Amino acid sequence: MKFTEAQRIRNLPPYLFARIENLIAAKKEEGVDVISLGIGDPDRPTPDHIIEELIKEARNPANHQYPSSVGMLSYRQAVAYWYNQRFGVGLDPRTEVVSLLGSKEGIAHISWCYLDPGDTVLAPDPGYPVYSGGAILAGATPHYIPVCEENGYLVDFDAISPDVARKAKMLFLNYPNNPTGAVAGGDFYRRAIDFAREYEILICHDAAYSDVAYDGYKPHSFLEFPGAKEVGIEFHSVSKTYNMTGWRIGWAAGNPEAVEALGRLKSNIDSGVFQAVQYAAAAGLTGPQEIVDRQNAIYQERRDILVDGLNSLGWNLTKPKASFYVWAPVPKGYTSASFAELVLEQAGVVITPGIGYGQNGEGYFRMALTIEKQRIREALDRLAANIGRVSF
Ligand SMILES: *Cc1c(COP(=O)(O)O)cnc(C)c1O
Repeated sequence: MKFTEAQRIRNLPPYLFARIENLIAAKKEEGVDVISLGIGDPDRPTPDHIIEELIKEARNPANHQYPSSVGMLSYRQAVAYWYNQRFGVGLDPRTEVVSLLGSKEGIAHISWCYLDPGDTVLAPDPGYPVYSGGAILAGATPHYIPVCEENGYLVDFDAISPDVARKAKMLFLNYPNNPTGAVAGGDFYRRAIDFAREYEILICHDAAYSDVAYDGYKPHSFLEFPGAKEVGIEFHSVSKTYNMTGWRIGWAAGNPEAVEALGRLKSNIDSGVFQAVQYAAAAGLTGPQEIVDRQNAIYQERRDILVDGLNSLGWNLTKPKASFYVWAPVPKGYTSASFAELVLEQAGVVITPGIGYGQNGEGYFRMALTIEKQRIREALDRLAANIGRVSF
């Protein structure tokens, strides 16, 4: 029998990491001790008090039944409490917060709420691939907005043509940014809100890294700025803040109509997050926050080792203020893919080619700070020994 794949799945871009994943597997089979700076997934465990809450609530039979797809009120209250403590943002937990099975799930599904086939969505390039992926699955067309180093990887609203802006129904933004580590200030968010008002565009801000930051810097929530709730929602989760990527719980917050639409869609697809996991995430959001600072101090030390090490090999990088990524240009004579292959081949080190985040990511690679500092040092030693100084 031959199954014909739906057009929506055939429209997804080719999976760009397949080749490098095969090369990694082959290296490991050869017995090479591969060091991966490729995956942005916290390596440290979830804090104990969160795990204890899970264990306690897992024993309660009331939590063994179907949860509601929008989340327990107590969980949504914990999200609202955290927004107030962390950003001074007030949220109505009943109408302005919806639970998600990780923010990625909501980011992919929001396109189903607002995009019909043929509609346009604005997505930054380079950017997290789920923005365009969700839109393509909904039959819509992503319009990529190039963001570049000279602009601090901020979307330049003046460079978006009015024709494109008039057609667009949604805009994805993400600061602190994956993959570039860029951060955005108040002027940027205010300009984004004006733009969204002018062209009647829903802003979907992805704030996954709002609490992974260094040197005392505190990233903003998009919802801090006047008018944000009229034009947009923010996606967030406990994944990066409390080392909980495997737990699969997040939320969308902000514009009540968008929150309601997402909840309505989800009630047709999933039945919500295991309640014991909701209790555990709430324990993270309402519990002691010093753990976040301690965690960031660990990433900051790794960041300093990695950036200083790369700079001693010929790079000229400034240290990112937030996110756990270092985004760097590839040396002269390489594409992002050919440089990633060289580094794997010669040094047994995995880096992520920038092209995986969009055409405009070409010429760059991403390194994640989610491995022990000794391993980062070793990766740098191997680069120094096997690749040496680079030029641009
Ligand atoms: C990790 C990440 C997410 C969040 O993922 P969850 O589904 O909440 O675990 C969202 N956006 C970006 C850009 C990320 O890197």
